[in-house]
Amino acid sequence: MKNFKQIFKEAENAITGIAAAPGIVIAKAYLFTKEKLEINDGDISNIEEAKSNLVEALAKSKKELNKIFAIAKEKMEGQRAAIFEAQMMILDDPILLDNINKRIETEKKQPEYIVNNEISKYQQLMAHSHEAYMNERASDIEDIKNRIIRNLQKKRWISKIQNDMIVVSDSLTPSDTILLSRCDVRGFVTEHGGLTSHAAIISRSLDIPAVVGVHNVTKLIKDNDTIIIDGFHGYILINPNEEQINFFSAKHEKLIELQKSLAELKDQPAKTIDGHEIQLLANVDVTGEIDLVITNDAKGIGLYRTEQIIEELGEIPNEEEQTKIYLNLSTRIYPKPLIIRAFDIGGDKFKFLDFTEPNPFLGLRGIRLLLENENMFRTQIRAVLKASSNKNIQFMLPMVSSIREIRKSLAIINECKNELKHEKINFDKDCKIGIMIEVPSAALLTYELAEIVDFISIGTNDLIQYLMAVDRGNDLVSNLYQEFHPAVIRTLSHIVKESKRAHKSVSLCGEMAADTLAIPLLIGLGLNSLSISPTTIPYAKRIIRSISYEKAKILGDECLASGTVEEITEKLQKFFKDNSITRTRNII
Ligand code: PEP
Ligand code: MG
Repeated sequence: MKNFKQIFKEAENAITGIAAAPGIVIAKAYLFTKEKLEINDGDISNIEEAKSNLVEALAKSKKELNKIFAIAKEKMEGQRAAIFEAQMMILDDPILLDNINKRIETEKKQPEYIVNNEISKYQQLMAHSHEAYMNERASDIEDIKNRIIRNLQKKRWISKIQNDMIVVSDSLTPSDTILLSRCDVRGFVTEHGGLTSHAAIISRSLDIPAVVGVHNVTKLIKDNDTIIIDGFHGYILINPNEEQINFFSAKHEKLIELQKSLAELKDQPAKTIDGHEIQLLANVDVTGEIDLVITNDAKGIGLYRTEQIIEELGEIPNEEEQTKIYLNLSTRIYPKPLIIRAFDIGGDKFKFLDFTEPNPFLGLRGIRLLLENENMFRTQIRAVLKASSNKNIQFMLPMVSSIREIRKSLAIINECKNELKHEKINFDKDCKIGIMIEVPSAALLTYELAEIVDFISIGTNDLIQYLMAVDRGNDLVSNLYQEFHPAVIRTLSHIVKESKRAHKSVSLCGEMAADTLAIPLLIGLGLNSLSISPTTIPYAKRIIRSISYEKAKILGDECLASGTVEEITEKLQKFFKDNSITRTRNII
C-alpha cells in the first residue's frame, strides 16, 4: 500500500490547510456562504413590477426562514432558537415595508438598493445599542437583509441545513460553530482562521475534525462535493477516487483501533516511567462537554470559559441563572476542582461594546472590560461564590496585565463576600482566586502577581500571540505563530520558576499542551499540571506514560539554551525518536 505522502503527492485533487481538530472524515460538503452581495443601485422603469418582485422576494424569504426556524427549534433548545425571532420581526414590520414601497415609488431605484439601505438603518441602531443582546441581533439582521436581497436577485438557496455534512466556509464565528454543530456536522473547513481561533478550539472541544486556513477553499470545493478531511495533518481531498477512499477508510479504521487502546488508558495514572505524576485537567467551552470530561477521566476542569454561556444563550444570564449553571457543573465534577474563568469578552469572541475597536485584541478585553462594567463583574462573582458551597470551585481572572487590576478585582470580590455574609448566604470563604498569565507584562511580573493570588494558569494561546505580535486567528501570519520560539520557551520557564518561588501552584491551559510534541518539553520545564480539551487527554496521557521525567528535564534545559525554533523542534523530534515514542500523527 502507498503511504500517505505518495497518495497526496500524486493527487491533483488535494489541498492543504492547518490541522485544527483531529479526526478523519469522508462526507459531502456544505458550502456555508456569507459572501457580500453586489447591490444594483440602478434606476427602474416599471414601478409595479419592482413592487411585485419585492412581494415575491419577501414571501420566499419568509418561507425559507420558517424552515430554518423549524430546524433550529428541533436541533436547539428553545432559548437558542429565539435568535431567529429578530429576523421574523423584520419581515413583518409594516413601517419598514411601507417605507421601502414608498421609496421605490418616489426614487424609482432598484428594490435591492432600497432594501439594503432601509434595513441597514435598523442594523446601525442595533449595533449602537448599549445592550449586548441588541448588539448580537445586529448580525442577525444582516442575515435577513442578505436573504431578501438574494431572493430579489433570484439567487439559489440551499433549503435545508442537512445533517452529516462537512461545513466549508470563508470563516466561522464561535456561534456559527456551535450552531452548526447541532446539525450533526461531520467536519469544518474554513478559508480563514488559525489553530487557536475560537472556532478551532470549539471544534476540538466538540470532537469535530477541522482544517482551517485553507486558501481559496470556498472556490475550490462545491456544494455536495465528496471530500475527505484529515484533521491530523490538515489535508483535504476533493471528490476522491476509489484508491484514495480505500486509503482513508483504512486510516479511519486504524484511528478507531487507536481510540480503543487509548480508552484502555482511562483508569491508568498520567505518570512518567520514573513515577512523576502530571495532573491532566480539562478545558470546557460548552456545557455539553462535561460528559467528555468524565469519560476521559480528567482530574478536574482547569478552565471553564464562561463567556461561551453568553454565546450559547445569546444573552448574559442573570445572577440566579449563572449560579445554577456553576453549581450544576461543580456538583457533577465534585470532588474534583472546577476553575471558573471570569467572562473573557472581547478579541475575536463576540461584540459586546457599542463601538468598533480598531484593535480588539489589544482593546477592552477580559479583566479590562469587566472592571469597566463592574455590575456585570459583580453579578458573576456573586454567582460563583453562591455556587461554591461544594468547596471545589476556584475563580480565575483573564487578560491580567498589572497588579492594579488584581487588587481592584480582589477588592470587588471581598465586597461581594461581605454582601453575601450580610445576606446570610452560604459560600466557600476560602474560594481560591487565580489569574491567567497571557500577556507579556504579566509574565515578567509573575512573582509579584503570584504573591497576591492563590494560583497561576498560563494561557499560551494569547501569550504567544502577544509575545510574538502575531494575531492568533490570522492565517496569513500563522507560520509566525511559533509555540517553540525560544522567547516563548524562556518565558514559560520564567513563569513556572517565579510561580514556584512565590510558592503558588502553576498550570498551563493553552492549546500548546494539547500538542503531543510539546508535552515532554512542558514537563521538563517544571509544569506538573496541564489543562487541555477533554478529547485530547488520552493522547497526552499516552505520551506522559512513555517518557522519563529525568530525561524531560534535560530536554527542557537543552531547549532553553537553544536560539532558534528549528533547533528546538529538532531536539523535540529527536527526543521522540531516541526514546522510541510514536506520536499520534505518525500512527495515523
Ligand atoms: C489562552 O489564551 O491560552 C487561553 C486558554 O484562553 P483563550 O483561548 O480562551 O483566550
Ligand atoms: Mg486567552
